[in-house]
Amino acid sequence: MPELILDRVTKRYGDIEAVRAVSFGIADGEFCAIVGPSGCGKSTALRLIAGLESVTEGTIAIGGHVVNDIDPGDRGIAMVFQDYALYSHMTVEENLSFGLRVASKPRQEVRERVERAANALELSELLDRKPTLLSGGERQGVAVGRSLVRNRKIFLFDEPLSNLDADLHAKARLEIARLHRERGFTAVYVTSDQREAMALADRIVVMRAGRVEQIGTPLELYENPDNRFVAGFFGSPAMNFLPVVTGEPRRDAVTVKLKGRKDWEMTVPTQHPELAPGTSLTLGIRPEHMVAAADASLGVEFEAHATEQLGGSSYIHGTSRHGEQIAVKQKGYSAAKAGDKLNFTFAPDKVRLFNEAGDRLR
Ligand code: ADP
Ligand code: MG
Repeated sequence: MPELILDRVTKRYGDIEAVRAVSFGIADGEFCAIVGPSGCGKSTALRLIAGLESVTEGTIAIGGHVVNDIDPGDRGIAMVFQDYALYSHMTVEENLSFGLRVASKPRQEVRERVERAANALELSELLDRKPTLLSGGERQGVAVGRSLVRNRKIFLFDEPLSNLDADLHAKARLEIARLHRERGFTAVYVTSDQREAMALADRIVVMRAGRVEQIGTPLELYENPDNRFVAGFFGSPAMNFLPVVTGEPRRDAVTVKLKGRKDWEMTVPTQHPELAPGTSLTLGIRPEHMVAAADASLGVEFEAHATEQLGGSSYIHGTSRHGEQIAVKQKGYSAAKAGDKLNFTFAPDKVRLFNEAGDRLR
């Protein structure tokens, strides 16, 4: 049975619907991320699960029991906030061990757990300091560590690593993943960073404007987005979007032509071949699926603006003849220079089509 179930949960603040009929279930021990742009209702959803806000409509169940009317302290949940608050009169060590000492854990166990968290988050040198003498990133590290040393069935995280620099961010992320693997707690992890969600989560809930757009594994969302929003949200650089027009229908396929390019068309498999010729669609293709064309009569015409050499791979950024921003990923070194005119094609099975409402045409 899922450990945590939200069933048509809505939260209103006056006229504002922060969370709109959100439903999802998280299995025992699962690591679930909630992602979406700022203001889409992620923190509100998390605060509803924690019991820090009351639900306007719908139900939240934990371990098979509806908890709508259960106090936060009785829900068996630990929460790591975005706006961390440390005990200012205590040292880093005392902050880290506070929850364990209150729970009367044996001293040896407290010491071991605090040491491990401090090591992982690079706080070992700072154990005797008071929070006022720490940087913002160090304070956030202590807040994360303080929650992680505790044993709870469900951990809720609200952008816990957002203030950390890239290096410490990567280490803290690995530490959270390790603790999750070892202890098997259920995690709900809110972030606006799609890469963080992809790296950590078993499953991801994508939100926009208070609603759930799609739920799936990182790979499902990346490979099979239900709509243009999800397609554009995952991947960096993002999926390329090009306007196309449908041609004559085929059996189990649709032919599409790039706008303004009458002499080149491709046949894309679809369950909706009945589309009227001349229908406008958006073709989505990821940077890594762009393939250099054999000659200039084929594919997308593209002018390079900049090339990023990353060693193992490179990105060419530019614009199509019709002004769309396009990114191309290539293995190894790319010899493309700003101003170069290049042509790219792509395999039909890598193409994703979206209608004018942004829905995926499967
Ligand atoms: P996110 O965490 O995804 O950035 P939030 O859950 O914080 O988004 O906010 C979702 C929406 O609800 C926003 O429009 C925000 O302004 C609104 N909101 C959040 N909390 C309150 C509140 N206490 N009172 C009124 N509006 C709120
Ligand atoms: Mg938030």
